[in-house]
Amino acid sequence: MQEKGSISIHTENIFPIIKKFLYSDNEIFLRELVSNAVDAVQKLKRLSSLGQFKGEIGTPQVEVSFDAEAKTITISDNGIGMTAEEIKKYINQIAFSGAEEFVEKFKDAKDAQELIGKFGLGFYSAFMVADQVEIQTLSYQEGSEAARWICDGSTEFEISEGSRTERGTSIILHVNKDSEEFVDKNRLGTILEKYCRFLPVPILFGTKSEYVEDGEDEEGKPKHKTIEVDNFINNTSPIWTKSPTELKDEDYLNFYRELYPMGEDPLFWIHLNVDYPFTLTGVLYFPKIKNDFDMQRNKIKLFSRQVFITDEVKDIVPDFLMLLHGVIDSPDIPLNVSRSFLQADSNVKKINSHISKKVADKLAELFKADRKVYEQKWADIGLFVKYGMISEEKFYDRAKDFALLTNTKDEHFTFNEYSEKVSPVQTNKDGTVIYLYATDPAKQDSFVQSANRKGYDVLKMDTPIDTHFVQTIERKLEKTALKRVDADVVEKLIEKDEKIESVLNEEQTTKVKEIFEKAISKPNMTVKVEAMGPDELPVSVTMDEFMRRMKDMAAMGGGGGMNFYGAMPDNYNVSINSNHKLVSKILDAKDAEQGKLAKQAFDLAMLSQGLLTGADLTEFVNRSVSLI
Ligand code: ADP
Repeated sequence: MQEKGSISIHTENIFPIIKKFLYSDNEIFLRELVSNAVDAVQKLKRLSSLGQFKGEIGTPQVEVSFDAEAKTITISDNGIGMTAEEIKKYINQIAFSGAEEFVEKFKDAKDAQELIGKFGLGFYSAFMVADQVEIQTLSYQEGSEAARWICDGSTEFEISEGSRTERGTSIILHVNKDSEEFVDKNRLGTILEKYCRFLPVPILFGTKSEYVEDGEDEEGKPKHKTIEVDNFINNTSPIWTKSPTELKDEDYLNFYRELYPMGEDPLFWIHLNVDYPFTLTGVLYFPKIKNDFDMQRNKIKLFSRQVFITDEVKDIVPDFLMLLHGVIDSPDIPLNVSRSFLQADSNVKKINSHISKKVADKLAELFKADRKVYEQKWADIGLFVKYGMISEEKFYDRAKDFALLTNTKDEHFTFNEYSEKVSPVQTNKDGTVIYLYATDPAKQDSFVQSANRKGYDVLKMDTPIDTHFVQTIERKLEKTALKRVDADVVEKLIEKDEKIESVLNEEQTTKVKEIFEKAISKPNMTVKVEAMGPDELPVSVTMDEFMRRMKDMAAMGGGGGMNFYGAMPDNYNVSINSNHKLVSKILDAKDAEQGKLAKQAFDLAMLSQGLLTGADLTEFVNRSVSLI
């Protein structure tokens, strides 16, 4: 039996196109061929369980081997095999039925994935690396004869009698000159490790040496010898394929360590398990994030039926969860399409919002189960929760019950608890509750202390994301505004109806203003004399909340009008406490002394906020020495 044929009259030679076009991604030939082999093995198992195959299945496995001299790579399986008829049907026709269309459309395809998927070219990806591809196969069907197919990458193929005596299929690649790098243990090993690590059928690759006992010597001591044992490269039942009820914490941790051997243990994890309206399994881990440099996106691996596809999960995973680690496996994610198509895909949208919901549920559960533990983890979890609340309305609504606000005393409150705590004292005369916050509690300490003396609480908003988080909660919470604790003097931060009387009359007030303006004489410092409590600082330097936020946004790269604020000089308000003893003292001092004292008081205020630098600082030190 020998038959020669031509693949299709319409086919311009597509192989050069495949080779050229898919070149950058050419390592996926191995993924495609091993996946086909795995499918063949699983089909046989299914037939057997349905009673349609009565023979012995044996040990299902796929073997990848290579011959460095002959420059061949072989992928063998003991699956269903193919008859000559099936080769014609599945290999010749299927791939080439779409060839005409292929030639027409190949220009539009974005990458190899897309091409392969669209045109069912899995098997033909072999021609990316091979001049000649040979199939040796024997079907599981009773009375089948072994068949051989060979094709040299032109449109000509040949089918003849095969040499296989055991059921299954071997694909033999005669590797081309440009692809000889693949005929190498390390290279093949790396590719298998990447794509085939969690395939459901054992994959044999290479051999390893093992030192084993081998009887006893004359003295009765155990003898040893080194044997070569087959080496399975894959874990056929990774945890995401199991039911959460079968798994212990240790299993999840071990799997994490398997995925990220260098990583620190994760905080907790979420096991995803959906079968309607789409199929999705996976485990997502919340990593410990120590600092911003640590933030690595693209640590989630995407699989389709345990075949690794990519670690680009944008669009599938909500943006705010891109820092999570772990795996997602879904046969329902269209893998072979361009990115823009993926965004619009309804399954992808559903999966995205499902993941968001699951994460919210898990956080709510952790919060309920043990508040203390949850609070301890908040520093790490908070980043995700805040990012999620900022970027997704739905997540905000779910998270508002378990998101925490932390004050400068490191106490944690839910939104409701905090509102109840501060409303009685921190409501201004218009009925707006003012939340105070510090972005750098150490630097803003004198303001924090003033606020605390007045019975006000101060929140800690000291991470980069807090700049945005402050805006989000202000927009979301009703009748609530946020002010940084140094946005104004404490009396003005939360304006109440009660008015503090000044001990100075109008004339004295004007005089004080003049003295300070003259002493400071900086165009970006606006001097105001205000009646405050006698215990408050004599001089405070503040920056208006709105102005500061705009500057913060500009510094973080906010576009458009932000640049305008970024370019403006820092404008400050200098508030002089007319009720402080020192101010009266300055008024009473000799004319020559007044300016010096005012300057000293101002510099002290600047110093307490870390704003006194350079020549001003040197001058201050010299003046202080002379005053002592
Ligand atoms: P796909 O896998 O998407 O169907 P392929 O081009 O990879 O497309 O394979 C075409 C067909 O060839 C498969 O559907 C299968 O019927 C057959 N085939 C490929 N490899 C094997 C194999 N190792 N054993 C049995 N059949 C195979």
